[in-house]
Amino acid sequence: MEYAKNILETIGNTPLVKLNKLTEELPCMVLAKYETFNPGNSVKDRMALKMVEDAEADGRLKPGGTIIEGTSGNTGMGLALAAVVKGYKCIFVTTDKQSKEKVDILKAVGAEVIVCPTDVAPDDARSYYSVSKRLGDETPNSWYVNQYDNPSNAIAHYQSTGPEIWKQTDGKVTHFVVGVGTGGTISGVGKFLKEQNPNIKIWGIDTYGSVFKKYHETGIFDENEIYPYVTEGIGEDILPENVDFKIIDGFTKVTDKDAAVYTQKLAKEEGMFLGNSAGAAIKGVLQLKEYFSKDDVVVVLFHDHGSRYVGKMFNNEWMREMGYID
Ligand code: PMP
Repeated sequence: MEYAKNILETIGNTPLVKLNKLTEELPCMVLAKYETFNPGNSVKDRMALKMVEDAEADGRLKPGGTIIEGTSGNTGMGLALAAVVKGYKCIFVTTDKQSKEKVDILKAVGAEVIVCPTDVAPDDARSYYSVSKRLGDETPNSWYVNQYDNPSNAIAHYQSTGPEIWKQTDGKVTHFVVGVGTGGTISGVGKFLKEQNPNIKIWGIDTYGSVFKKYHETGIFDENEIYPYVTEGIGEDILPENVDFKIIDGFTKVTDKDAAVYTQKLAKEEGMFLGNSAGAAIKGVLQLKEYFSKDDVVVVLFHDHGSRYVGKMFNNEWMREMGYID
């Protein structure tokens, strides 16, 4: 018999899928690292499991403990799956900007979810950074994960996602393009790929309203870059320790409208029913056209599944209200 001993054993080894129609205007091949094949439907299962295993190994997470994290949903899902299998409790803190589906899904796998306002400064006591830190301090036998600064996040991608991409492309990958939030994915994959071949270019996708692109280009943390935006999962108003700016060759910013429109296009033109950051990522790849030539192999990573966005980017009424479609 061939079976996984539990659901956590099915994490990783996701397919690489060629894009055909949306990338017709590019001179090169574009392959998607298709992370929705993970059991929690996102790439975050990988780092969630790694963070839990490392915390168990060094005693930060003890039997019967409570896992506490500020999460927009996908990391929470990964942590919740690990918690169910391994016998922990979960409390997640998220913002009122996140789709309702994401919150409901976390509750479905047994987590407690606390929703905080988006439009407050990170050091405000009501912010989701502050509330999750406070709960971590106050809850007995708890472990505050902190995916932004937890090194196990990027290490998970260095040990699994990066090597998979290298093997699946037979070492032919020339560019890696991915949305950046905590920075774990780009930093772990980017470090691994550059160690195999330093000529591989690593591009981050950023949003308008986020600090990454300007910081990368100037070294300046510019608060004027920070304002509310719609795109989910990428961009930040802080500099997480997991973003390794040295291994990143450049950032391109994608508008909220383009990210939403391309999320729909991926579903309708490629049959890829994916989340909002996948729309941003593929539009970012198209924006980088001038950097690609004929024999290049561009790998773009798609983080999560479309089911979490049916009330937003896949709802034409919402798209019209936002002014994204006529
Ligand atoms: N897309 C989605 C949907 C996400 O949930 C995240 C994580 N915040 C990202 C992209 C960014 O990934 P990372 O945190 O590894 O930079």
